Amino acid sequence: MALIVQKYGGSSMDGPERIKNVAGRVVNTKRAGHQVVAVVSAPGDMTDRLIEMAYQITPNPSPRELDMLMATGEQISIALLAMAIQELGEPAISLTGPQVGILTDSVHTKASILKIDCSRLLQELEQGKIVIVAGFQGMDAFREITTLGRGGSDTTAVAIAAALKADLCEIYTDVEGVYTTDPRIVPEARKLEAISYDEMLELACLGSKVLHPRAVELAKIYNVPLVVRSSFTEAPGTMVKEVSQMEKKMVVTGVAGDKNVAQIVVHHVPDRPGIAKAIFKALAAENINVDMIIQSAMRDGINDIAFTVARPDLKQAVAVTERVAREIGATGVTFRDDVAKVSIVGAGMISHPGVAAEMFACLAEEGINIHMISTSEIKVSCIIDEELLEKAIKALHRRFNLDKI
Ligand code: ASP
Ligand code: MG
Repeated sequence: MALIVQKYGGSSMDGPERIKNVAGRVVNTKRAGHQVVAVVSAPGDMTDRLIEMAYQITPNPSPRELDMLMATGEQISIALLAMAIQELGEPAISLTGPQVGILTDSVHTKASILKIDCSRLLQELEQGKIVIVAGFQGMDAFREITTLGRGGSDTTAVAIAAALKADLCEIYTDVEGVYTTDPRIVPEARKLEAISYDEMLELACLGSKVLHPRAVELAKIYNVPLVVRSSFTEAPGTMVKEVSQMEKKMVVTGVAGDKNVAQIVVHHVPDRPGIAKAIFKALAAENINVDMIIQSAMRDGINDIAFTVARPDLKQAVAVTERVAREIGATGVTFRDDVAKVSIVGAGMISHPGVAAEMFACLAEEGINIHMISTSEIKVSCIIDEELLEKAIKALHRRFNLDKI
Protein backbone atom coordinates (compact mmCIF):
# COMPACT_ATOMS: atom_id res chain seq x y z
CA MET A 1 0.00 0.00 0.00
CA ALA A 2 1.32 3.37 -1.00
CA LEU A 3 0.24 6.84 0.09
CA ILE A 4 -0.46 8.89 -3.00
CA VAL A 5 -1.28 12.60 -3.22
CA GLN A 6 -3.11 13.50 -6.43
CA LYS A 7 -3.73 17.07 -7.57
CA TYR A 8 -6.42 17.92 -10.11
CA GLY A 9 -6.32 21.35 -11.74
CA GLY A 10 -9.22 23.57 -12.72
CA SER A 11 -9.59 22.11 -16.22
CA SER A 12 -10.00 18.61 -14.73
CA MET A 13 -12.75 19.87 -12.40
CA ASP A 14 -14.70 21.90 -14.97
CA GLY A 15 -18.29 20.61 -14.73
CA PRO A 16 -20.08 17.52 -13.37
CA GLU A 17 -18.85 15.09 -16.05
CA ARG A 18 -15.22 15.99 -15.47
CA ILE A 19 -15.65 15.83 -11.70
CA LYS A 20 -17.13 12.33 -12.11
CA ASN A 21 -14.13 11.40 -14.24
CA VAL A 22 -11.78 12.59 -11.48
CA ALA A 23 -13.82 10.67 -8.89
CA GLY A 24 -13.37 7.52 -10.99
CA ARG A 25 -9.61 7.97 -11.10
CA VAL A 26 -9.34 8.62 -7.38
CA VAL A 27 -11.51 5.58 -6.59
CA ASN A 28 -9.48 3.36 -8.92
CA THR A 29 -6.31 4.38 -7.10
CA LYS A 30 -7.89 3.56 -3.73
CA ARG A 31 -9.20 0.22 -5.02
CA ALA A 32 -5.72 -0.63 -6.27
CA GLY A 33 -4.88 -0.74 -2.56
CA HIS A 34 -3.56 2.75 -1.90
CA GLN A 35 -4.34 5.62 0.46
CA VAL A 36 -5.30 8.74 -1.47
CA VAL A 37 -5.33 12.44 -0.68
CA ALA A 38 -6.79 14.47 -3.57
CA VAL A 39 -5.96 18.18 -3.72
CA VAL A 40 -8.20 20.14 -6.09
CA SER A 41 -8.41 23.56 -7.73
CA ALA A 42 -11.49 25.67 -8.35
CA PRO A 43 -13.54 24.52 -11.38
CA GLY A 44 -12.46 25.91 -14.78
CA ASP A 45 -11.82 29.63 -14.80
CA MET A 46 -13.83 30.27 -11.64
CA THR A 47 -10.96 32.02 -9.83
CA ASP A 48 -10.68 34.50 -12.73
CA ARG A 49 -14.42 35.10 -12.58
CA LEU A 50 -14.40 35.66 -8.83
CA ILE A 51 -11.60 38.21 -9.20
CA GLU A 52 -13.50 39.95 -12.02
CA MET A 53 -16.54 40.22 -9.74
CA ALA A 54 -14.44 41.85 -7.05
CA TYR A 55 -13.17 44.44 -9.53
CA GLN A 56 -16.72 45.14 -10.67
CA ILE A 57 -17.40 46.25 -7.11
CA THR A 58 -14.21 48.20 -6.49
CA PRO A 59 -10.90 48.97 -8.22
CA ASN A 60 -9.15 48.32 -4.89
CA PRO A 61 -10.52 45.19 -3.22
CA SER A 62 -9.02 44.53 0.18
CA PRO A 63 -6.56 41.61 0.02
CA ARG A 64 -8.21 39.95 3.02
CA GLU A 65 -11.62 39.97 1.35
CA LEU A 66 -10.10 38.85 -1.97
CA ASP A 67 -8.75 35.78 -0.17
CA MET A 68 -12.13 35.18 1.45
CA LEU A 69 -13.68 35.33 -2.02
CA MET A 70 -11.10 33.33 -3.98
CA ALA A 71 -11.03 30.52 -1.41
CA THR A 72 -14.68 29.75 -2.18
CA GLY A 73 -13.80 28.37 -5.63
CA GLU A 74 -11.82 25.45 -4.22
CA GLN A 75 -14.52 24.82 -1.62
CA ILE A 76 -17.03 24.14 -4.41
CA SER A 77 -14.64 21.62 -5.96
CA ILE A 78 -13.94 19.64 -2.78
CA ALA A 79 -17.63 19.27 -1.86
CA LEU A 80 -18.65 18.13 -5.35
CA LEU A 81 -15.75 15.69 -5.64
CA ALA A 82 -16.52 14.19 -2.22
CA MET A 83 -20.14 13.65 -3.32
CA ALA A 84 -19.03 12.08 -6.62
CA ILE A 85 -16.71 9.67 -4.79
CA GLN A 86 -19.38 8.74 -2.24
CA GLU A 87 -21.72 8.08 -5.15
CA LEU A 88 -19.21 5.51 -6.41
CA GLY A 89 -19.46 3.78 -3.04
CA GLU A 90 -16.21 4.88 -1.37
CA PRO A 91 -16.02 6.85 1.87
CA ALA A 92 -14.67 10.36 1.30
CA ILE A 93 -14.43 13.60 3.23
CA SER A 94 -13.68 17.11 2.00
CA LEU A 95 -11.55 19.50 4.06
CA THR A 96 -10.71 23.18 3.55
CA GLY A 97 -7.12 24.36 4.03
CA PRO A 98 -7.91 25.75 7.51
CA GLN A 99 -9.66 22.49 8.50
CA VAL A 100 -6.58 20.48 7.54
CA GLY A 101 -4.36 22.87 9.48
CA ILE A 102 -2.36 24.43 6.66
CA LEU A 103 -0.69 27.27 8.51
CA THR A 104 0.58 30.16 6.39
CA ASP A 105 2.06 33.60 6.96
CA SER A 106 -0.29 36.58 6.77
CA VAL A 107 0.61 37.88 3.31
CA HIS A 108 -2.87 37.89 1.78
CA THR A 109 -3.16 36.72 -1.87
CA LYS A 110 0.42 35.40 -1.87
CA ALA A 111 0.87 33.61 1.43
CA SER A 112 3.58 31.02 2.07
CA ILE A 113 2.95 27.74 3.87
CA LEU A 114 4.73 27.63 7.24
CA LYS A 115 3.52 24.29 8.60
CA ILE A 116 1.02 21.54 7.95
CA ASP A 117 -0.61 19.72 10.83
CA CYS A 118 -1.06 16.15 9.57
CA SER A 119 -3.16 14.80 12.45
CA ARG A 120 -6.59 15.28 10.87
CA LEU A 121 -5.39 13.97 7.50
CA LEU A 122 -3.88 10.86 9.09
CA GLN A 123 -6.95 10.24 11.23
CA GLU A 124 -9.26 10.31 8.20
CA LEU A 125 -6.90 8.13 6.13
CA GLU A 126 -6.70 5.58 8.94
CA GLN A 127 -10.47 5.32 8.88
CA GLY A 128 -10.19 4.26 5.26
CA LYS A 129 -11.43 7.50 3.77
CA ILE A 130 -10.33 9.29 0.65
CA VAL A 131 -9.42 12.79 1.82
CA ILE A 132 -10.13 15.71 -0.48
CA VAL A 133 -8.31 18.94 0.28
CA ALA A 134 -8.94 22.43 -1.09
CA GLY A 135 -5.81 23.61 -2.88
CA PHE A 136 -4.45 27.17 -2.91
CA GLN A 137 -5.65 28.09 0.60
CA GLY A 138 -4.60 28.07 4.21
CA MET A 139 -4.99 29.97 7.44
CA ASP A 140 -2.65 32.33 9.26
CA ALA A 141 -1.93 32.44 13.01
CA PHE A 142 -5.00 34.67 13.51
CA ARG A 143 -7.33 32.16 11.79
CA GLU A 144 -7.62 34.39 8.75
CA ILE A 145 -8.12 32.64 5.41
CA THR A 146 -5.18 33.14 3.05
CA THR A 147 -4.40 32.07 -0.52
CA LEU A 148 -1.03 31.04 -1.94
CA GLY A 149 -0.92 33.04 -5.19
CA ARG A 150 -2.38 32.07 -8.58
CA GLY A 151 -1.72 28.46 -9.47
CA GLY A 152 -1.04 27.69 -5.81
CA SER A 153 -2.83 24.32 -5.67
CA ASP A 154 0.30 22.62 -7.00
CA THR A 155 2.12 23.99 -3.97
CA THR A 156 -0.58 22.68 -1.62
CA ALA A 157 -0.28 19.21 -3.14
CA VAL A 158 3.51 19.06 -2.92
CA ALA A 159 3.53 20.49 0.61
CA ILE A 160 1.01 17.87 1.76
CA ALA A 161 2.98 15.12 0.03
CA ALA A 162 6.13 16.33 1.80
CA ALA A 163 4.41 16.60 5.20
CA LEU A 164 2.85 13.12 4.90
CA LYS A 165 6.06 11.68 3.37
CA ALA A 166 3.86 10.39 0.56
CA ASP A 167 5.25 7.83 -1.85
CA LEU A 168 4.17 9.84 -4.88
CA CYS A 169 2.64 13.18 -5.80
CA GLU A 170 0.72 13.10 -9.09
CA ILE A 171 -0.17 16.42 -10.72
CA TYR A 172 -3.08 15.91 -13.11
CA THR A 173 -3.59 18.55 -15.77
CA ASP A 174 -4.89 18.94 -19.33
CA VAL A 175 -1.59 18.15 -21.05
CA GLU A 176 0.15 14.78 -21.04
CA GLY A 177 3.30 15.96 -19.32
CA VAL A 178 6.28 18.26 -19.79
CA TYR A 179 7.28 18.81 -23.41
CA THR A 180 10.54 19.84 -25.08
CA THR A 181 8.69 23.04 -25.97
CA ASP A 182 5.11 24.27 -26.36
CA PRO A 183 3.48 21.76 -28.78
CA ARG A 184 1.08 24.50 -29.95
CA ILE A 185 4.11 26.30 -31.44
CA VAL A 186 6.14 23.24 -32.46
CA PRO A 187 3.97 20.22 -33.31
CA GLU A 188 7.08 17.98 -33.28
CA ALA A 189 7.69 18.74 -29.58
CA ARG A 190 8.17 15.52 -27.61
CA LYS A 191 6.89 14.61 -24.19
CA LEU A 192 9.79 14.09 -21.79
CA GLU A 193 9.88 10.84 -19.81
CA ALA A 194 11.79 12.46 -16.96
CA ILE A 195 13.20 15.86 -16.09
CA SER A 196 15.33 17.01 -13.14
CA TYR A 197 13.98 19.33 -10.45
CA ASP A 198 16.42 22.05 -11.49
CA GLU A 199 15.46 21.90 -15.15
CA MET A 200 11.77 21.85 -14.24
CA LEU A 201 12.29 24.84 -11.97
CA GLU A 202 13.89 26.81 -14.80
CA LEU A 203 11.08 25.87 -17.19
CA ALA A 204 8.41 26.74 -14.61
CA CYS A 205 10.06 30.12 -13.91
CA LEU A 206 10.32 30.73 -17.67
CA GLY A 207 6.57 30.75 -17.98
CA SER A 208 5.86 27.13 -18.96
CA LYS A 209 2.57 26.82 -17.13
CA VAL A 210 2.50 23.07 -16.35
CA LEU A 211 3.81 23.41 -12.79
CA HIS A 212 3.97 26.25 -10.31
CA PRO A 213 7.62 27.20 -9.58
CA ARG A 214 7.13 27.15 -5.80
CA ALA A 215 5.77 23.62 -6.00
CA VAL A 216 8.87 22.47 -7.88
CA GLU A 217 11.13 24.20 -5.37
CA LEU A 218 9.37 22.43 -2.48
CA ALA A 219 9.49 19.09 -4.28
CA LYS A 220 13.26 19.49 -4.70
CA ILE A 221 13.87 20.49 -1.08
CA TYR A 222 11.82 17.59 0.32
CA ASN A 223 12.69 15.18 -2.47
CA VAL A 224 9.04 14.55 -3.31
CA PRO A 225 8.70 12.23 -6.33
CA LEU A 226 6.48 14.13 -8.72
CA VAL A 227 4.71 13.11 -11.88
CA VAL A 228 2.86 15.41 -14.29
CA ARG A 229 0.16 13.66 -16.32
CA SER A 230 -3.21 14.16 -17.99
CA SER A 231 -6.50 13.49 -16.24
CA PHE A 232 -8.08 12.77 -19.64
CA THR A 233 -5.84 9.91 -20.84
CA GLU A 234 -3.91 6.94 -19.46
CA ALA A 235 -0.55 8.18 -20.81
CA PRO A 236 2.23 7.83 -18.21
CA GLY A 237 3.26 11.50 -17.98
CA THR A 238 6.62 13.04 -17.04
CA MET A 239 8.55 12.19 -13.86
CA VAL A 240 10.18 15.14 -12.11
CA LYS A 241 13.05 13.82 -10.00
CA GLU A 242 16.78 13.95 -9.41
CA VAL A 243 18.08 12.80 -12.79
CA SER A 244 21.51 11.18 -12.62
CA GLN A 245 24.37 12.31 -14.85
CA MET A 246 24.14 8.98 -16.71
CA GLU A 247 20.59 9.70 -17.78
CA LYS A 248 21.41 13.11 -19.22
CA LYS A 249 21.67 12.11 -22.85
CA MET A 250 20.66 15.48 -24.20
CA VAL A 251 22.61 18.68 -23.68
CA VAL A 252 19.45 20.75 -24.07
CA THR A 253 16.22 19.42 -22.58
CA GLY A 254 13.79 22.13 -23.56
CA VAL A 255 13.18 25.50 -25.22
CA ALA A 256 10.93 28.04 -23.53
CA GLY A 257 9.48 31.38 -24.55
CA ASP A 258 8.10 34.09 -22.30
CA LYS A 259 6.23 37.16 -23.48
CA ASN A 260 5.66 38.55 -20.02
CA VAL A 261 8.81 40.65 -20.30
CA ALA A 262 9.55 44.35 -20.56
CA GLN A 263 12.94 46.04 -20.84
CA ILE A 264 14.09 49.25 -19.16
CA VAL A 265 17.34 51.07 -19.99
CA VAL A 266 18.94 53.75 -17.84
CA HIS A 267 21.22 55.84 -20.05
CA HIS A 268 24.52 57.50 -19.15
CA VAL A 269 24.85 56.41 -15.57
CA PRO A 270 27.95 57.70 -13.74
CA ASP A 271 30.42 54.86 -13.15
CA ARG A 272 30.87 54.81 -9.38
CA PRO A 273 30.04 52.50 -6.48
CA GLY A 274 26.46 52.60 -5.20
CA ILE A 275 24.69 53.34 -8.49
CA ALA A 276 23.32 49.82 -9.07
CA LYS A 277 22.33 49.72 -5.43
CA ALA A 278 20.35 52.95 -5.75
CA ILE A 279 18.35 51.66 -8.72
CA PHE A 280 17.67 48.11 -7.58
CA LYS A 281 17.05 48.90 -3.92
CA ALA A 282 14.37 51.35 -4.98
CA LEU A 283 12.74 48.70 -7.18
CA ALA A 284 12.94 46.07 -4.45
CA ALA A 285 11.35 48.50 -1.98
CA GLU A 286 8.30 48.57 -4.30
CA ASN A 287 8.26 44.75 -4.51
CA ILE A 288 9.21 44.82 -8.20
CA ASN A 289 11.02 41.68 -9.30
CA VAL A 290 13.94 42.30 -11.65
CA ASP A 291 15.04 39.48 -13.92
CA MET A 292 17.99 40.13 -16.24
CA ILE A 293 20.44 42.94 -15.56
CA ILE A 294 23.18 44.18 -17.89
CA GLN A 295 25.68 46.94 -17.29
CA SER A 296 27.61 47.97 -20.36
CA ALA A 297 31.39 48.41 -20.43
CA MET A 298 32.38 51.75 -19.00
CA ARG A 299 33.54 54.50 -21.38
CA ASP A 300 34.59 57.96 -20.17
CA GLY A 301 33.24 57.24 -16.69
CA ILE A 302 29.74 56.53 -18.03
CA ASN A 303 27.68 53.29 -18.22
CA ASP A 304 24.27 52.17 -19.42
CA ILE A 305 22.26 49.80 -17.26
CA ALA A 306 19.49 47.67 -18.80
CA PHE A 307 17.17 45.28 -17.00
CA THR A 308 13.90 43.43 -17.43
CA VAL A 309 10.74 43.20 -15.34
CA ALA A 310 7.39 41.47 -15.79
CA ARG A 311 5.05 43.50 -18.02
CA PRO A 312 2.41 44.24 -15.38
CA ASP A 313 5.17 45.88 -13.29
CA LEU A 314 6.47 48.06 -16.15
CA LYS A 315 4.61 51.29 -15.41
CA GLN A 316 5.54 51.31 -11.76
CA ALA A 317 9.12 50.22 -12.50
CA VAL A 318 9.59 53.07 -14.99
CA ALA A 319 8.27 55.60 -12.48
CA VAL A 320 10.68 54.38 -9.80
CA THR A 321 13.60 54.22 -12.25
CA GLU A 322 12.97 57.74 -13.57
CA ARG A 323 12.99 59.08 -10.04
CA VAL A 324 16.29 57.37 -9.19
CA ALA A 325 17.78 58.34 -12.59
CA ARG A 326 17.25 62.00 -11.74
CA GLU A 327 18.84 61.53 -8.32
CA ILE A 328 21.97 59.84 -9.68
CA GLY A 329 22.38 62.12 -12.68
CA ALA A 330 21.61 59.64 -15.48
CA THR A 331 20.52 61.28 -18.74
CA GLY A 332 17.31 59.35 -19.25
CA VAL A 333 15.23 56.20 -19.08
CA THR A 334 13.75 54.34 -22.05
CA PHE A 335 11.60 51.22 -22.07
CA ARG A 336 10.03 48.63 -24.39
CA ASP A 337 7.28 46.11 -23.83
CA ASP A 338 7.44 44.49 -27.29
CA VAL A 339 10.27 42.14 -26.33
CA ALA A 340 10.25 38.49 -25.26
CA LYS A 341 12.62 36.02 -23.70
CA VAL A 342 13.67 32.80 -25.41
CA SER A 343 15.62 30.27 -23.36
CA ILE A 344 17.26 26.89 -23.70
CA VAL A 345 17.39 24.72 -20.58
CA GLY A 346 19.44 21.60 -19.93
CA ALA A 347 21.38 20.10 -17.04
CA GLY A 348 23.82 18.65 -19.60
CA MET A 349 25.11 22.15 -20.40
CA ILE A 350 27.35 22.05 -17.34
CA SER A 351 29.64 19.54 -19.02
CA HIS A 352 29.28 20.75 -22.63
CA PRO A 353 31.00 24.01 -23.60
CA GLY A 354 29.78 25.95 -26.62
CA VAL A 355 26.05 25.53 -26.09
CA ALA A 356 25.48 29.28 -25.75
CA ALA A 357 27.53 29.91 -28.90
CA GLU A 358 25.38 27.37 -30.74
CA MET A 359 22.26 29.21 -29.62
CA PHE A 360 23.60 32.58 -30.78
CA ALA A 361 24.63 31.08 -34.13
CA CYS A 362 21.15 29.67 -34.62
CA LEU A 363 19.49 33.02 -33.85
CA ALA A 364 21.95 34.84 -36.14
CA GLU A 365 21.18 32.49 -39.03
CA GLU A 366 17.51 33.30 -38.58
CA GLY A 367 18.32 37.03 -38.67
CA ILE A 368 17.16 37.47 -35.08
CA ASN A 369 18.87 40.24 -33.15
CA ILE A 370 19.70 39.65 -29.48
CA HIS A 371 19.10 42.57 -27.10
CA MET A 372 20.19 41.01 -23.82
CA ILE A 373 21.72 37.70 -22.71
CA SER A 374 21.84 35.95 -19.38
CA THR A 375 23.16 32.55 -18.45
CA SER A 376 23.15 30.14 -15.54
CA GLU A 377 24.72 26.69 -15.22
CA ILE A 378 21.74 25.07 -16.90
CA LYS A 379 20.13 27.86 -18.93
CA VAL A 380 20.82 30.49 -21.57
CA SER A 381 18.22 33.22 -22.10
CA CYS A 382 18.08 35.91 -24.78
CA ILE A 383 15.83 38.94 -25.03
CA ILE A 384 14.63 39.38 -28.61
CA ASP A 385 11.80 41.18 -30.43
CA GLU A 386 8.49 39.69 -29.40
CA GLU A 387 7.36 39.19 -33.01
CA LEU A 388 10.31 36.86 -33.61
CA LEU A 389 9.68 34.62 -30.59
CA GLU A 390 7.90 31.76 -32.35
CA LYS A 391 10.47 31.73 -35.14
CA ALA A 392 13.25 31.55 -32.54
CA ILE A 393 11.59 28.71 -30.61
CA LYS A 394 11.08 26.66 -33.79
CA ALA A 395 14.66 27.20 -34.96
CA LEU A 396 16.23 26.36 -31.58
CA HIS A 397 14.08 23.26 -31.16
CA ARG A 398 15.40 22.01 -34.52
CA ARG A 399 19.00 23.12 -33.88
CA PHE A 400 19.27 21.11 -30.67
CA ASN A 401 17.57 18.07 -32.22
CA LEU A 402 14.73 18.12 -29.74
CA ASP A 403 12.35 16.74 -32.37
CA LYS A 404 14.45 13.55 -32.61
CA ILE A 405 15.08 10.56 -30.29
N1 ASP B 1 -7.73 28.29 -8.45
C1 ASP B 1 -6.47 28.94 -8.25
C2 ASP B 1 -6.07 29.67 -9.50
O1 ASP B 1 -6.76 29.59 -10.51
C3 ASP B 1 -5.40 27.99 -7.80
C4 ASP B 1 -5.00 26.94 -8.80
O2 ASP B 1 -5.66 26.75 -9.82
O3 ASP B 1 -4.00 26.28 -8.57
O4 ASP B 1 -5.07 30.33 -9.51
MG1 MG C 1 -7.08 27.52 -11.54
